[in-house]
Amino acid sequence: MKLLPESLRCAESTSGVVLVVHGGAGTILPENLTPQLEDAFKHSLASALRAGYDDLQQGKSAIDAVETAVRVLEDDPLFNAGRGAVFTADGRNELDAAIMDGGTGKAGAVAGVVKPKNPITLARAVMERTPFVFLAGAGADRLAEDLHLAIVDPPYFWTETRWKQLNDQQKRESEGSASGGDGFTMSLSEDNKFGTVGAVAVDNAGNVAGATSTGGMTNKRYGRVGDSPVIGAGTWADNETCAVSATGHGEYFLRLAVAHDIAARMRYTGVSLENAAAEVIHHEVSKIGGSGGVIAIDRHGNAALPFNTAGMYRGYITRDGTVHVSIYREE
Ligand code: ASP
Repeated sequence: MKLLPESLRCAESTSGVVLVVHGGAGTILPENLTPQLEDAFKHSLASALRAGYDDLQQGKSAIDAVETAVRVLEDDPLFNAGRGAVFTADGRNELDAAIMDGGTGKAGAVAGVVKPKNPITLARAVMERTPFVFLAGAGADRLAEDLHLAIVDPPYFWTETRWKQLNDQQKRESEGSASGGDGFTMSLSEDNKFGTVGAVAVDNAGNVAGATSTGGMTNKRYGRVGDSPVIGAGTWADNETCAVSATGHGEYFLRLAVAHDIAARMRYTGVSLENAAAEVIHHEVSKIGGSGGVIAIDRHGNAALPFNTAGMYRGYITRDGTVHVSIYREE
């Protein structure tokens, strides 16, 4: 198995961790972010970590902690999840989310929902309050209403930044089609979907959990769904191996079943979390031209945060409550 240089491995893994979050991976470079925006992202990641950590401190479960952390990020318009989600080609926000409990092996996921304020909470409701795992579209929205979860009108999700991104993308695509492009390839470029969010945690009982929430990719159409809500692709958790939440170009992560592949390598070969996660991101995903990263944690508090893009909004909190947040590769 190909190993990474020591320098990279150290930067991408750590121990004594109870909760890790991400806010998306991509071409995130210092020249594209003002210091104010950097601070805002870091502040928000830290708030999510502290909120989830509070749950764990109160003896709540890893599932509670990941839901809480993801809700904080969904409520923040900076991220491509919940409020602030990217727009579809029709100018709508269609949201995907998944959650998995490593203790019970249960999972819940929703795709293409437009009504719940917090899609991750609906995903958890699917897991805990229905016999199903994965619900899509109008039916999933109806479940949110039937269960009296918080429902919002479409304008709640609207942000000027994302609207501008849609207009820019549509302009680029029509220019691309005019010069012979197919329009699809461009809409899948990695610059069109910053800000998917996710969390993985381990609780006092040694149970791990993972959660992911996203608006998908700008200008997506035909009901496109990425990896985020697909159990085993964008989200995974089992106590014997690890919990994983992915972010990146979903089509590649779907084809490789990235989150489950990391867990399977640990289970079948006994490789460490750090090496399994690094191998899948830096070797398998990179090999087929995919870009992105994952956050992952095992029940002993080892965490891995590998990504093959310029940056990934990310952070973790250790058992003693120390918060670490970073954005760029060299941090
Ligand atoms: N993986 C998400 C998707 O393909 C996007 C992202 O993580 O940025 O929908």
